[in-house]
Amino acid sequence: MRVRVLDEQCQGHTLCATAAPAVFGLREEDGHAYTIVADVPAEFEDQARRAALGCPEQAIVIE
Ligand code: SF4
Repeated sequence: MRVRVLDEQCQGHTLCATAAPAVFGLREEDGHAYTIVADVPAEFEDQARRAALGCPEQAIVIE
């Protein structure tokens, strides 16, 4: 499973990094999210899905 963050849609709410800290980090300069692991290990797939569902901006794409 692969995930990416649409930077133009991300508003830096931080919810994804809270829901899936092993998958998403937040950039210091603007608070926007980035993926720590683009290829999500199986054990983190559930939290990555939860983060995508919880993103208020629909900025997380799962492929
Ligand atoms: S929850 Fe969505 S909008 Fe908020 S930081 Fe994460 S990707 Fe960005």
